[in-house]
Amino acid sequence: MKNTTAYTILALAISLFLVNGCTKDQKDQEHSSSESPKEYEGLLISPDSVLKHIEDQLAFGPRNPSSIGHSETMKYLLAYLSTKADTAFLQPFSATVYGKTHEMANIIASFSPEKKDRVLLCAHWDTRPFADEDKDELLRSKPILGANDGASGVAVLMEIANILSKQKPELGIDIILLDGEDLGLSGDLEGFFQGSKYLAVNYPIQKPRYGILLDLVGDSQAEFRYEPVSKQAHSVLVDAVWTIAKKRNSPYFIHENGNSVSDDHVILNQHGIRTINIIDVNLVGNIDPNPRRQYWHTSGDTMVNISSQTLADIGNVLLEFLFTTSQDVF
Ligand SMILES: [Zn+2]
Repeated sequence: MKNTTAYTILALAISLFLVNGCTKDQKDQEHSSSESPKEYEGLLISPDSVLKHIEDQLAFGPRNPSSIGHSETMKYLLAYLSTKADTAFLQPFSATVYGKTHEMANIIASFSPEKKDRVLLCAHWDTRPFADEDKDELLRSKPILGANDGASGVAVLMEIANILSKQKPELGIDIILLDGEDLGLSGDLEGFFQGSKYLAVNYPIQKPRYGILLDLVGDSQAEFRYEPVSKQAHSVLVDAVWTIAKKRNSPYFIHENGNSVSDDHVILNQHGIRTINIIDVNLVGNIDPNPRRQYWHTSGDTMVNISSQTLADIGNVLLEFLFTTSQDVF
């Protein structure tokens, strides 16, 4: 993902206006989420299990498109989700980026596929083919392991899939692991978001009411702030998720505005699928003052930065949100 420009937000605002036929403010007035959530009595994320889902992905090495790690991980993730979801399948596609054609696939797993009312949970499963932000010039052409940038969001969704295999909320849930998110060169948005671009115009299942994207969700000192593109897309949804986090005393969800970011949610929003992004946005661009947290798009994106507590916390916030919040207002 990349930092956005005002242009992206403007384009998003225009597309949302066209799709919804009314302004965001009108929507917000129609749907106030004053209802207090019920107590969550369901299953919780196992910190050990969710951490292991990252280790299992990293065992395949870098997972950038056209690598062996990529094809092996694709099979692995499909096999895992097939054992947990009601349906799971690949959505293959190819894209040519900087003169090279890559065979890729989004991985789509559905719970209660017969239900018309659906929620999309998504994360990108590919990893970056080059560590272009690395301090060591020799490493900048090498692919990254992507413990946080890629594997963390996937791990949380894998463990949510495990829990959804045992208990289901009222709405149908689709977990979509997106491919080809991180193929772009710095500053060139054309190369990024191949999976969401393909999905948005070739949506193979019932479209959801809304989507929640997870990216960079595993850092031991993660900070999830309100992300402006998400707020603009669906502020009621952002508020509702952060309210659940507050109720759970999550130390990771910060109740203040953060920077905006270009990520898969921008593409989905441009195509009328209102999607918010839960992202540790200060990692992007390595702007965090803490040197330990300056590992984005470098060879340092490894297990050392990851905490099972962060992963479990965000997973539990999502589960409590899905199971206790009335979904009618979204
Ligand atoms: Zn990235």
